[in-house]
Amino acid sequence: MSRGLVLFIGAGPGAADLITVRGARALARATVVLHDALTDPALREYAPAAEWIDVGKRGFCTSTAQARIDALLVQHALAGEVVARLKGGDPSVFGRLEEEMLALAQAGIAYEVVPGVTSALAAAAASGRPLTRRGGGRSVALTTAMTQERELHAGRRADTEVFYMAGRQLAMLSRRLQDAGWPGDTPVSVVSRAGWPDQLASDHTVATLPEACVMHSGRPAIVTVGVGAAPVVPLPGAATATAQAAHLAARIAAHPARTDPLEGHQATEGPKP
Ligand code: SAH
Repeated sequence: MSRGLVLFIGAGPGAADLITVRGARALARATVVLHDALTDPALREYAPAAEWIDVGKRGFCTSTAQARIDALLVQHALAGEVVARLKGGDPSVFGRLEEEMLALAQAGIAYEVVPGVTSALAAAAASGRPLTRRGGGRSVALTTAMTQERELHAGRRADTEVFYMAGRQLAMLSRRLQDAGWPGDTPVSVVSRAGWPDQLASDHTVATLPEACVMHSGRPAIVTVGVGAAPVVPLPGAATATAQAAHLAARIAAHPARTDPLEGHQATEGPKP
């Protein structure tokens, strides 16, 4: 029996030209494409003869919807097709990649993964905020604000935390961040539809984050919190970029991080005030 191949391809976060060259070449090999809702229709140009199937799930993915995608992947691969599984951003970031890999492994089907630009990176580019900063922004956490039970939670594990899937509950995120020990004046950058021609970016603080709801309503958004969300502008008394990052990191660290109740362990603690 001929067994096909599945190519997991990161489409990038937005406009079609943000796919990688390797991703575009992999797409051109496909005879069947299963794509997410967040991928640009212009990508069809790379595989015009392939059968394109929309498997996009809105909001929360039910296990039935995921099981259906797993089954389609297996079914088309077993029929000998070269199947592109085109996912928004990078396939390995909040993309249910492990479930699809497992389904293929169980069926003995080979696969490859082509990375893509995840939306956190497109948001950093759109807002002009380097995610890491010398002197204070040494760690970045990619975090989903939503649990499987559809509860929103937030912790403080890194100098910069990038939240996916929080766009609909920014007021709640603001409260959860303060509960986790982020000072109210910590910089927050919100970017929606990063990488698309209509991308929008706005600046807030942890305390004023709820005001971002109006501008970004109904659009996929990335919420970046902490040192990596600060604008790169001259600050009085901190002449170099390194000094600025150190200054901000010290201000945040002066507030101890609090336990994330859902994690059940102590998050990284800053010095006691
Ligand atoms: N694999 C994707 C993430 C999928 S989870 C990636 O690597 O980017 C879906 C979440 O990603 C959305 O709720 C939103 O938080 C974020 N997202 C996806 N595309 C986005 C975009 N163009 N701009 C801002 N956020 C985006």
